[in-house]
Amino acid sequence: MGNPEDLEIVPSSFPEVLKDLHSQYKSLEEGVVANYIPELAKVNPNLFSICIATVDGQIYEVGDYQQLFTIQSISKVFVYGQALEDHGRDYILTRVGVEPTGEAFNAIILDEQSKRPYNPMVNAGAIATTSLIKGSGPTERLNRLLDMYRRYIGRDVFVDISVFTSERSTGHRNRATAHLMLNFGMIDQNIEEALDLYFQQCSVMVNCRDLAVMAATLANKGINPITKEKAVDNRYIKDILSVMYTCGMYNFAGEWAYNVGIPAKSGVCGGIIAVVPNQMGIGVFSPLLDVRGNSVRGVKVCEQLSQRLGLHLFDCSRQEGI
Ligand code: GLN
Repeated sequence: MGNPEDLEIVPSSFPEVLKDLHSQYKSLEEGVVANYIPELAKVNPNLFSICIATVDGQIYEVGDYQQLFTIQSISKVFVYGQALEDHGRDYILTRVGVEPTGEAFNAIILDEQSKRPYNPMVNAGAIATTSLIKGSGPTERLNRLLDMYRRYIGRDVFVDISVFTSERSTGHRNRATAHLMLNFGMIDQNIEEALDLYFQQCSVMVNCRDLAVMAATLANKGINPITKEKAVDNRYIKDILSVMYTCGMYNFAGEWAYNVGIPAKSGVCGGIIAVVPNQMGIGVFSPLLDVRGNSVRGVKVCEQLSQRLGLHLFDCSRQEGI
């Protein structure tokens, strides 16, 4: 990857590439919107936006980039970072592993030996991670997460109450997962409180531009490239990006690593973030999902961006820079 100083980013090609990809894929109507959370089923399936934020603070966007939606599982990345800051790597590793599952995001499984959830990017691991967020009570814990989002995004965010209550009243699978972890002592606080916080972190409203800026903050050593505020300690970036790389796209993580080759995370909202270390963050939003819960257009767009901009981390044949 080299030094960011050595890289010649050619932003003039970005608007063109984004426009191309948007018009190429806007007619692709494969997939279905998430409907297991009733409130999510109401989304307009045609929404589509792509955004790139560079580490030097430039933003390129196309489509419905101001449209707000709930962040869903993309939250897991940032809450994992907060938990690492709250407790340090060694302790977090005793509670949540770093092994891909090869299973769906909501699989009710724990590691046979350690009883830990496999990784923080699947629901089990994310609920465990959320339960570790420090705070004197539910309000302080939620406020700490909202402040964390503010640092990454650069503005105040809020929880969409209808999505939150929709998830809370139908999230029996997540409740079952939490009970399994309680059984093995992997969650030690009141599980309803942990689940509420988890549902709230998933129900925070963001737009595609926010996703790109959040990803760019991870690409930029934890510093928001627009506000210059530190969102997360640089020492945890490699932990966060490593689990994104191996586990962020669930049971598609291997193919994603092979074809796209950059750390990423998807959510059932239809959002995807992807991080090109020291260069840029990418956000894509399109609610039509494949069977694994990843945005159909989002995956295609990232594959194309990786190819056209030469982003695969292990592609030694590409020219230095973009
Ligand atoms: N809130 C969702 C859930 O727990 C998040 C899942 C996702 O985005 N993959 O089911």
